[in-house]
Amino acid sequence: MLNAYQPGNHFLQIPGPTNVPDRILRAMAAPTIDHRGPEFGKLSRGVLEDLRRIFRTSNPVVIYPSSGTGAWEAALSNTLSRGDHVLMFETGHFATLWRALAGRLGIEVDFVPGDWRRGADPEVVETRLTEDKAHRIKAVCVVHNETSTGVVSRIGEIRQAMDRANHPALLFVDTISSLASIDFRHDEWRVDVTVGCSQKGLMLPPGLGFNAISDKAMKASETAALPRSYWRWEEMLETNKNGFFPYTPATNLLYGLRAALDMLLEEGLDAVFARHDRHGEATRQAVRAWGLEVQCLDEREFSGSLTAVRVPDGHDADAFRKVVLEHFNMSLGNGLSKLQGKVFRIGHLGNFSDPMLAGTLAGVEMGLELAGVPHRSGGVQAALDSLKGAH
Ligand SMILES: *Cc1c(COP(=O)(O)O)cnc(C)c1O
Repeated sequence: MLNAYQPGNHFLQIPGPTNVPDRILRAMAAPTIDHRGPEFGKLSRGVLEDLRRIFRTSNPVVIYPSSGTGAWEAALSNTLSRGDHVLMFETGHFATLWRALAGRLGIEVDFVPGDWRRGADPEVVETRLTEDKAHRIKAVCVVHNETSTGVVSRIGEIRQAMDRANHPALLFVDTISSLASIDFRHDEWRVDVTVGCSQKGLMLPPGLGFNAISDKAMKASETAALPRSYWRWEEMLETNKNGFFPYTPATNLLYGLRAALDMLLEEGLDAVFARHDRHGEATRQAVRAWGLEVQCLDEREFSGSLTAVRVPDGHDADAFRKVVLEHFNMSLGNGLSKLQGKVFRIGHLGNFSDPMLAGTLAGVEMGLELAGVPHRSGGVQAALDSLKGAH
């Protein structure tokens, strides 16, 4: 069945990579140009300038030809030294991966355990930093939107907690699945390195990683001793000044990024965030009407990017996802590591509208029935009511 032609669009409702809009696909389908020529310089100067608006910063943002994982490594290797301590929070699968990466670089991670249903706790940040009189902790690292659980950590409150503790640690935030979807403010929250990438809220294919860099992080990079070469900010920032890169950039992805920035700035970032909030709320209304449970426990931490839904004990979320793929040509996110088989994730981020969400939830509701997952009907209707009410 999967090999046969399936009419209509594939519904790519995983929380990244997300649906790439036609306008971006068309922008990328242009000949690759000389990356040392004047036309390229003009393109990249514009992109580097406008990208700052997405991070809400007036500081530089660097662009790597990389996945998000590369941008994680860049944040740590530019600012830290072997044996430095960092404070991290076990919010879910992605926080656990970042921790493992830090460990492999020779960084000592103080990992605060979590139940994968809540964000990083600002009170724990304050306590841990207040106790650290010797200022052994060099950075606090938080995943803003934990993509494995659909839980958003409250970065503004974490910044306040760090200020109350009066501790000099740097603040690093992974915004890979929140950038251009959920309110984030690099400057206002005095984040030191914001990590992002292309294939989630920015609506692009995979292949670009980002670091937004504060002055304090730049200063830390002068004395940081971890080895780095490809990720080194210095050459990147130096060549970026004239619109160039120290090595071959992902030219066609930059064409796509130009289009993505135009689309986001035309819609307006606040409208983008409101749209994602509306879709998150409507999805949760559907889940509740089905009688199922949302993975996120704290309403202050609900995600506008995705919703992780728990399936009742004795039922397999992956068997359900297989039914949805085969019958409706729709991909839903799987449960990662310890949530495997226990949750499915509905991605509602990026290039997404109310009717697309209604279609997605209809596919889920029909799939629940076909896969024999116990539920009540009426989830789609509850979502439609919520969407109507929001307009
Ligand atoms: C997707 C994701 C990553 C990993 O990004 P890659 O591009 O796969 O390397 C890291 N953190 C979060 C929060 C993510 O959603």
